[in-house]
Amino acid sequence: MSGDPVSAAARRELVRIAGEQGVLDNPEDLKAFSYDAGIYRVNPAIVVLPQNAREATEILHFAAENGISLTLRSGGTNLGGGSIGPGIVMGLSRLNSIDLSGISDGYVEVGPGVILKELNDQLAQRGYFFAPDPSSGLACQIGGMIGTNAAGAHSLKYGAVKENVLGLDFVPVAGDPVWLSPMPVKGPPEEWRGGGGMPRGFESVLENLPLWAPVLKKHRKNVSKNASGYNLFDLADRLYPESNIPPVWDPLRLVIGSEGTLGLVTKARLLIRSLPFRKSTILAFFYDLLSLGGAVAGLQGLGPSALEMMDRTTLDLVGREKFSIPPDADSLLLIEFDHEPQDELLKEAMRILSGYPSPSPARIARSERDQAELWKARHALFPTLYRYDGVHRPINFADDVAVPVHRLPELLEWLRSYFKGAELPVAIYGHIGNGNAHINPLLNLAESRSMSLMLDISRTVHRTVIERFEGVPCGEHGEGRVRAEFLPEVYGPEVYRIFEKTKGFFDPEGVLNPGIKISRTSFLDNIDVARVVQPCATCGKCNTVCPSFDVLRQESMGARGWYQILTDPAFRDHPPEGVLDGCLNCKSCRTVCPAGVDVSAVVLEARSRFRSDPLTRAISRTLLLPGRLTTITGWLGRTQPAWDRPLFRKALEEVTRLLFQRFYPSARIPSGLALPRLRSTSLRRKFRELTEEGGRQGDLAYFHGCAANTLDDGVGESMIRLLGRAAGRRLVLPSQTCSGTPIETYGHKDLVREAARQNLTTLQSYGKIVTGCASCTLALRDLPVHFPEGSGERERAGEISRRVVHVSQFMLDPEMAPVLREIRENADRESDGKRVTYHASCHLRAAGVVDEPHDLLEKVLGERFHIMQDEDRCAGGAGTYLLKNPEFSREIFARKEKAVRESRAHTVTTSCPACQMTLRDRLGDDPKVSHLAVLLSRYLSPDEKSSFR
Ligand SMILES: Cc1cc2nc3c(=O)[nH]c(=O)nc-3n(C[C@H](O)[C@H](O)[C@H](O)COP(=O)(O)OP(=O)(O)OC[C@H]3O[C@@H](n4cnc5c(N)ncnc54)[C@H](O)[C@@H]3O)c2cc1C
Ligand code: SF4
Ligand code: SF4
Repeated sequence: MSGDPVSAAARRELVRIAGEQGVLDNPEDLKAFSYDAGIYRVNPAIVVLPQNAREATEILHFAAENGISLTLRSGGTNLGGGSIGPGIVMGLSRLNSIDLSGISDGYVEVGPGVILKELNDQLAQRGYFFAPDPSSGLACQIGGMIGTNAAGAHSLKYGAVKENVLGLDFVPVAGDPVWLSPMPVKGPPEEWRGGGGMPRGFESVLENLPLWAPVLKKHRKNVSKNASGYNLFDLADRLYPESNIPPVWDPLRLVIGSEGTLGLVTKARLLIRSLPFRKSTILAFFYDLLSLGGAVAGLQGLGPSALEMMDRTTLDLVGREKFSIPPDADSLLLIEFDHEPQDELLKEAMRILSGYPSPSPARIARSERDQAELWKARHALFPTLYRYDGVHRPINFADDVAVPVHRLPELLEWLRSYFKGAELPVAIYGHIGNGNAHINPLLNLAESRSMSLMLDISRTVHRTVIERFEGVPCGEHGEGRVRAEFLPEVYGPEVYRIFEKTKGFFDPEGVLNPGIKISRTSFLDNIDVARVVQPCATCGKCNTVCPSFDVLRQESMGARGWYQILTDPAFRDHPPEGVLDGCLNCKSCRTVCPAGVDVSAVVLEARSRFRSDPLTRAISRTLLLPGRLTTITGWLGRTQPAWDRPLFRKALEEVTRLLFQRFYPSARIPSGLALPRLRSTSLRRKFRELTEEGGRQGDLAYFHGCAANTLDDGVGESMIRLLGRAAGRRLVLPSQTCSGTPIETYGHKDLVREAARQNLTTLQSYGKIVTGCASCTLALRDLPVHFPEGSGERERAGEISRRVVHVSQFMLDPEMAPVLREIRENADRESDGKRVTYHASCHLRAAGVVDEPHDLLEKVLGERFHIMQDEDRCAGGAGTYLLKNPEFSREIFARKEKAVRESRAHTVTTSCPACQMTLRDRLGDDPKVSHLAVLLSRYLSPDEKSSFR
């Protein structure tokens, strides 16, 4: 489906409102806004990204006055095609302000573009949280959560969004924005008119409500989670309460969950709660679903904060071994308690569970880390299913049914036998405590029968849920395009007519979010088979960690968009330059992708085909020849005092700008950049007796990489001091060449392979290979990918990569325990009480080294170690990105700087040369920046320091 073109005059008007930067109509931009996390593709004619509520309001009114379709979009994680549409797509991600000033009164005010995880990270620092927790929390934004009345595992205790919003700034299609909040009604509700100033839509609803209320009451569903239709049910219930409760006009109930079809939300006042003092999670396993259902009935009386189930296919996929799930477990229940008396609750829960046959006894996860792992697996379920077999995909088209809670076990059994009959693999999981099941049949959409199969499944499942189980097709994901055609059947024709009227009152011309919720279009229209069969689930989790997306808040300039653009046949042979050059190769996306997609690999593959320039190739060649490299850096090091001066640096900036501008217009060595001191004598030369060429043999290799060999920052010396203390091991600096990361970044894949081959040859004989550099750690861990599958080289590379450890891991190894003890004792003795924080370099996290630096710093520094907020956000250096695009690198750094300053640390420690350089350049000397090895080696006993060599 394509939108009607938007006229040149309309475009001009949109540019007037949102500025040139806020209006996108390049083919790649339109592509990036043509999908969400559902199965559809609808091409917008134009995308507008307002910066503030005023611009967003003007855009909405302009579209409405001119009859141009407009679809609202926040995080674009909707599973039903609810945030895509023809005409204008208005992306609200840039409206991301967070006002915490109401915290002491129990609320915060936020823009619709605030990402849930980011809000909760900020709140957590202050001891609070916003309770609704959809599994997409890493990527979804508040506007979309309000649009769908999102809910999650903890809605069992804390409710969905509608129970957690106190007020909204609402912009109707025509007329001024209004502040909406629940209002007590004085006098008889029938006569109450809200005191005027209400948008026309609400006035008309209010007028009709006395007539509609009995109909709504008659057809209301007895489900505890419901995102089907407009929530006129609550509106009527609150205005005409049955008991003596005073009547309330609560327009929020109608707006929340209306999927952007009634108006725009530009600000929300959210209810916040204090973080629970502690939580415990129980894992229980069952042989069959009926036992699970029985246990749930008993457990509910204990008031758990979450009750989540996963069926056997789902368990196979999350990894039975990883979570010690018995092979014969048919299903699993996660039970969480976050209130007291927790020990007693746990005891009682275990007693209830022991009444059901189980393949293995229930287990309690008490530590935060264990619980986080479990919940991480649960939250990533849908995209993880993309790993199923490379062909079948979990298709979201009957994924969100909700039934009365007591009927869920029966429904689950029915679903099982239905899918068994259809001979289809299916994953079933969900919020069992709320009667809400997620159903993901695994289909191969490339098969011709897939469409008729989908039609069959959708009709059978939805109709059975509605008719036999008295449930609704959607508990929390919204109708979107995927369930809209079933809405008339959910509550019957009378209620559907009320829904249609409601939509008409608010949006008479049907401009807003056409095709969504109120639509009879078949759910099979506009399915994007070509995209859905790819390995990416379009869940959007990678966007949130992508530094480019973080700054630009633009789908076409972030990880998910780049993947989608570069794998679309329309762009495969003509990738846009902005897309090719935008990625920093930080690899953060890879650390979060549940589907196992490496977006940076796709970008680098494209770069190697289209962006491999002769200049960076020549530089890369030098990196492959360490002798030549150190001759150059040695000379530069000796002469640095002469050239590293303002005038010369100015000239250097101009020369490098000229050199690079043909390939990378913004690239240069900025005159203001604080360069690290270069060694006049390389590390290998200084420690020649430890090198292979110096005749040294041993089993412990220090892979120093280019940076420690050429930069005079004490890292190499510190690493050697630390590793030299490994008892019973003999340290060697093996022959080595660049690990390949900077070369790879510029697309020279063949040279990376050359580097990998050289390192493969020289590293083979070492029992342990220790690195101090984040990028080298990752590159060596990734060594096998450079060799063909099934080749001997790949196997050998695999063996080497398993022996690679980062210094933080090595220091925690039992063999280093005496050294660590000595360091800790000295650190205690010398403690000045000054705070140390840690910047978690992206490449190190991508290499899987996440907890060890924390554990190590905690062991050595105790309470002096402080975890800063956003420690895992990119610092913008990213190898040479701070030279390739210095201005944008600074914009990325702004967030890191804020976090560092707020940490009030005296020292920031890290283990990536580029991060160190960036942090030093931008922070100056306050706080100090220190490599992890340098920090640790300071606490080695002085005699040991000198005695090593
Ligand atoms: C892996 C995965 C797991 C998920 N798990 C859950 C889950 O556990 N629970 C759950 O509820 N959902 C879940 N979802 C669905 C989805 O993430 C949620 O519905 C989420 O709230 C959507 O937020 P968003 O910012 O991405 O919204 P979008 O997709 O951008 O928009 C959603 C809807 O809201 C409307 N909208 C957006 N902004 C505004 C605004 N400012 N004003 C008015 N309307 C607006 C849009 O038009 C659209 O109809 C999941 C999705 C994925 C991919
Ligand atoms: S690449 Fe991975 S994280 Fe990103 S959208 Fe696709 S599946 Fe989600
Ligand atoms: S590597 Fe970094 S910059 Fe590139 S797409 Fe992934 S997260 Fe974004």
